[in-house]
Amino acid sequence: MAVPLFASSLEPYRARLDEALSRVVESGSFILGPEVAAFEEEFARYLGARHCVGVANGTDALAIALRSLGVRPGDEVVMPSLTFYATAEAAVEVGAVPVFCDVDLETACVTAETVRAAVTPKTRAIVPVHLFGNVAPVPELRELGLPVLEDAAQAAGATLGDRKAGALGDAATFSFFPSKNLPCLGDGGAVTTDSDEVAEHARMLRFHGSRDKVTFEEVGYNSRLDELQAAALRVLLPELDGWTEARRATAAEYERQGLAEHVTLPRPVEGAGHAYHLYAARSDRADELAAALKEQGVGARGYYRVPVHRQPAMQRFGAGAELPATEELAATNLALPMGAGLSPEAVGEVVEACASGST
Ligand SMILES: *Cc1c(COP(=O)(O)O)cnc(C)c1O
Repeated sequence: MAVPLFASSLEPYRARLDEALSRVVESGSFILGPEVAAFEEEFARYLGARHCVGVANGTDALAIALRSLGVRPGDEVVMPSLTFYATAEAAVEVGAVPVFCDVDLETACVTAETVRAAVTPKTRAIVPVHLFGNVAPVPELRELGLPVLEDAAQAAGATLGDRKAGALGDAATFSFFPSKNLPCLGDGGAVTTDSDEVAEHARMLRFHGSRDKVTFEEVGYNSRLDELQAAALRVLLPELDGWTEARRATAAEYERQGLAEHVTLPRPVEGAGHAYHLYAARSDRADELAAALKEQGVGARGYYRVPVHRQPAMQRFGAGAELPATEELAATNLALPMGAGLSPEAVGEVVEACASGST
């Protein structure tokens, strides 16, 4: 039996998705209509945040949120290098300077210590990434006294204490790209915040910098979540907690079946309810192991082998950064199959394949 890296399927929701999409087509309202408004309210309520602003994708969400938080050209924004490229790309796009900090080797997330080492008088915001569905320690980061923007693209459904990731910082951004934990049927994203001002600014920026569609106060974006995607998200949001529970059960099953004998298991940040967007284990022989798993039909992949600060487009910002834990994780992480639809038998196959691949 082959075990894919992403073990989730929308097939069980097909009829309800079809119904929701038909409803939108019949309505003839495709941009900023009732579905987007309803999803924004439902997702904000789910997170325990006051506002949600739907935008076109998670990258735009980052750029819009940074500007809404007051980040201006030339300002420094501290962020990890171990993340998807878009985290840094969005900062550069708004004219800011990404300053890359290290992460904790065990959790793959930034800490107050790694962030503090990168803060200067020019720092205007901190962007912790809830990498792989783990949750960066946002309350500790807020004590540094700078605005905190959570990149929660990988962390829909994750928690820290009794709060949801995405409702911990001054603002947060989500992506609903189809492989993320809360997917839509194409591109989609959101900015969430408790601040009326930040939300209003984000709403303005997503519509060309205009509040009333007549006067254009700022150069903004054409970046909306559309009605079809919002309708699909309203079908899938009620499933998110169940999917997250299933992902956690899969992680527990990996542990129960002895995966720790073959690789180093991912570790949740203290107090975090990990959402396991990816089940990123670690091995000194990660690439060899991935090749061995592939031969046995088991999906596995190392992420961010070239971390952002060493990407060609980031050379002028990343040159000289010394990030030892980032480098080690970039070389050794190995994502193993994860998803809401993974059976204990499939987990057993992955563990067995790891066992035979490690000898
Ligand atoms: C996916 C992702 C993004 C970008 O989201 P898009 O919707 O693809 O633009 C940003 N940051 C992180 C950490 C991501 O995983």
